[in-house]
Amino acid sequence: MLDLRPICENCARPLPPDAAEAMICSYECTFCAACVADLLHNVCPNCGGGFEKRPVRPSRDWKGGNTVANDPPVVARKHKPVDQVTHDAFSLAIRTLSPHQR
Ligand SMILES: [Zn+2]
Ligand SMILES: [Zn+2]
Repeated sequence: MLDLRPICENCARPLPPDAAEAMICSYECTFCAACVADLLHNVCPNCGGGFEKRPVRPSRDWKGGNTVANDPPVVARKHKPVDQVTHDAFSLAIRTLSPHQR
């Protein structure tokens, strides 16, 4: 099941389960949309992959009890601010490739 991590890994902005600005990579590294666009250049600092919008887990029981109440966000906060200089060097060549080509 997808981890719903509670904050942006870089800036620690709260990202509740219904946050429209929550972005994830394929490993579920979680950042806010502003950090992905302005700081990360759509390159995950942990794996080099791109980001997609994190789906919202339903708040209502539409089917089978699959709700955010039954499958709540993870509690652990992963806060690991990105060093801009290090990330710029890391992402320089990667950011020119579409995530589908990485
Ligand atoms: Zn952020
Ligand atoms: Zn990643």
